[in-house]
Amino acid sequence: MPLCAGQPFPRRAIRVKETVGSVQFAAMKTVHIKSFGCQMNVYDGQRMADLLSEQGYSETPTPEGADLILLNTCHIRARAVQKVYTELGKLRDLKTSRKAAGQDTRIVVAGCVAQAEGAEIQRRQPAVDLVVGPQAYHRLPALLEEARRRRVVDTDLPVDDKFGHLPAPKPAAIAARGLSAFVTVQEGCDKFCAFCVVPYTRGAEFSRPVVQVLAEIERLARAGVQDVTLIGQNVNAYHGEGPDGGAWSLARLAGAVGGIEGVRRIRYTTSHPRDMGEDLIAAHRDLPQLMPFLHLPVQAGSDRILTAMNRGHSAEDYRRLVARIRAARPDIALSSDFIVGFPGESEAEFEETIALVDEIGFASSYSFAYSPRPGTPAAERKDQLAPEIVSARLHRLQARIEHHRQAFNHAMVGRVVEVLLERAGRHPGQLAGRTPWLQAVQIEGGAHRIGECVPVRIERAGSNSLFGRSLRAGDLAA
Ligand code: SF4
Repeated sequence: MPLCAGQPFPRRAIRVKETVGSVQFAAMKTVHIKSFGCQMNVYDGQRMADLLSEQGYSETPTPEGADLILLNTCHIRARAVQKVYTELGKLRDLKTSRKAAGQDTRIVVAGCVAQAEGAEIQRRQPAVDLVVGPQAYHRLPALLEEARRRRVVDTDLPVDDKFGHLPAPKPAAIAARGLSAFVTVQEGCDKFCAFCVVPYTRGAEFSRPVVQVLAEIERLARAGVQDVTLIGQNVNAYHGEGPDGGAWSLARLAGAVGGIEGVRRIRYTTSHPRDMGEDLIAAHRDLPQLMPFLHLPVQAGSDRILTAMNRGHSAEDYRRLVARIRAARPDIALSSDFIVGFPGESEAEFEETIALVDEIGFASSYSFAYSPRPGTPAAERKDQLAPEIVSARLHRLQARIEHHRQAFNHAMVGRVVEVLLERAGRHPGQLAGRTPWLQAVQIEGGAHRIGECVPVRIERAGSNSLFGRSLRAGDLAA
């Protein structure tokens, strides 16, 4: 999923005990955290859960029973913002009914809508107690205390590095989150694509120090994580300070992550074509843990539209880059992001996007109708397209993208691939996991256990999953 996509994510539960004198009893403050949007919001949601668990909060899967409700929001499209206000309306009613039953409920809005809209959120929805931006959530405990006395808004872009103030997740919390984990290594963006709000909501590019990132991943690996995704709005622009004081590239960081015991698979997202350094391309050839799956947004196939989007590269640059990456790692699969209906886009320019999709043959991709975002240059343009034209193009593009996704999955039938077994499968005796290309696989379990990486012969490709049978290592030659 690209690092801006507006969909809600699943939740988890933990418990806390308080002791007064020698008597021990369960005092539960519960928090319901709902994260919308990208992997970075998932990561931030987990870090806020870790922070609040230090304050005695346990997570609860639904808002109904929660003392604290936190919406971790996404600002990437108008629809995503509207969803937040709709949700807040329901939460206001819940707060009112709980108050009538003598129960106090506090509502927090975090994430990119908090950053973009700030006090406007409380003006539109007075039931919101606290609004906190993505760069300030490390102050949650103090802000919640302050919000007992008055409504609070904190959308600072502080200089101090929030990561240094966040508690390490407990091993039990890490284990409960599964074998794969996102780790933010870079935040913000300096590219200022004409349609995008990220530079305004997440701020300038910031890369976390290497030592801090490696320590976090070592902790994850000790707690059982095997598949690590390094995330950033512009992750391949990573230039974190290394222990030697020098700036490390993403390739060098990935190499160090590959040296951490227990890390079997490394991924990274989301990248910009202009920041694919030669060392990163070489890492796809030389670093065995680096998975052969790359999310590389291109957004459009027309040079005039790419220029209007301020992407800083042409369609031909993108083709040549893909050719260099495929030369380094022939079995690599690519996914991308597309925006259709950018202001002024002609039918012929849209056809160039379709042609690029067919030429590259993406294993999967995300496509969105252009959505004018407040404060972005493209939103000011006079040549906005009619919604019916945009949605017709979106349907056509999605059909092409789905065609290539199905073709990629069907080409797996008959092949033997490594599958990291992550959880129980849909049916009894089944296990589920992922291929190196992030495809979901259901296998007849045999004697295998979650956490094992097993050779699987793919027997069938379903609409969203592959199905296969595990092979004893000895059978690989058969
Ligand atoms: S590269 Fe462009 S689309 Fe991606 S986060 Fe930065 S401004 Fe947004």
